[in-house]
Amino acid sequence: MTTSSTTPATSSSTTSTDASGILPAELEDLVTLFDVRATDSPTPDAERAAALESPRFGTVFTDHMARVSWRQGDGWLDRRIEKYGPLQLDPATAVLHYAQEIFEGMKAYRHADGSVWTFRPDANAARFARSAHRLALPALSVDDFVGSIAALVRTDVDWVPSGEDSSLYLRPFMFASESFLGVRPAAEVEYLVIASPVGPYFAGGVKPVSIWVAEDYHRSGPGGTGDAKCGGNYAASLLPQTLAQEQGCDQVCFLDATTNTYLEELGGMNVFVVMADGSVHTPELTGSILEGVTRSSILQLVADRGHAVVERRIPLAEVVSGLADGTVREIFACGTAAVITPVGRLAGTTFDSTVGDGEPGELTMAIRGELTDIQYGRAADRHGWMRRLA
Ligand SMILES: *Cc1c(COP(=O)(O)O)cnc(C)c1O
Repeated sequence: MTTSSTTPATSSSTTSTDASGILPAELEDLVTLFDVRATDSPTPDAERAAALESPRFGTVFTDHMARVSWRQGDGWLDRRIEKYGPLQLDPATAVLHYAQEIFEGMKAYRHADGSVWTFRPDANAARFARSAHRLALPALSVDDFVGSIAALVRTDVDWVPSGEDSSLYLRPFMFASESFLGVRPAAEVEYLVIASPVGPYFAGGVKPVSIWVAEDYHRSGPGGTGDAKCGGNYAASLLPQTLAQEQGCDQVCFLDATTNTYLEELGGMNVFVVMADGSVHTPELTGSILEGVTRSSILQLVADRGHAVVERRIPLAEVVSGLADGTVREIFACGTAAVITPVGRLAGTTFDSTVGDGEPGELTMAIRGELTDIQYGRAADRHGWMRRLA
């Protein structure tokens, strides 16, 4: 286990850059592009303190939101931070009819010295641009994406919790805001970022989840939108998720739509399988799987530890028989919200298997600890993944 870490955080470093190549000085410039129109009715300190003490995911939002508007011919306009509040939409607004919408999910972490950081925002920005392309939405630059996040977090920095495993969840999204019922890419689009303080995903300790493998439904198919982070994929996952819960399971896992035999992913998390020989396997990106930032970070951390890392098509049958004969030792799911979720049980219409002894796996928990240590500044950021926001 490497969860107890080593080098102190490099929180005071202001010269490092990350994969997007933006230096902190340049980040300063990006933030300046956003006009801060502060609310005249901020949440009273006591109320905010109460909200931060026991944050409930997605129910409480900060005082402001970031916003940029797009019009065909004009491009992105009016970068601003404004009061959080309802949007007024015409009933004919395109997104309400044709679901031309994409989103991202990331977090701002408060380090022990009070500084606020985010994790690989360049990767989220790049994925957002890929999602936009697939949904025929206009591309937002990495600069505007990272700038909007930094500007919002700085404005609402008092909303970033400092409790153990707490963070400020950031939700950038973009939608077709033109009111027009014709079927074509909208000529008017809004981009916003909202933020919600969140506590530990697993209150009272990490608990393994049970997974139902869907045989009658798929979340996406070849050439579909599976590798775009769009609301429509989530809409399609809700019924199978409900059916999984009716089977007594927490989450649904989807198989490939072509052969109905290979593991793909959960409704909102990627999946990993750890073999008894120490090798770590995850479904390869075939176009119908969402490329998680957590997934790619775990691939790196696992390789750093010297494990063989294999991205391939993983037959469900191989996993089920591997659980029975012990060649499969651990299964976990991963995504920004929960980081890493151990899987304790895998079930479907013809099988019901316990993973290992049903408790969180050793490598699962070690990688979880290592990744959260990096995110919270308790371990050295050796891959340059962290970006200081405030
Ligand atoms: C967001 C998401 C994930 C996880 O991605 P992260 O970048 O790790 O948060 C996995 N699968 C789907 C379908 C998703 O929407």
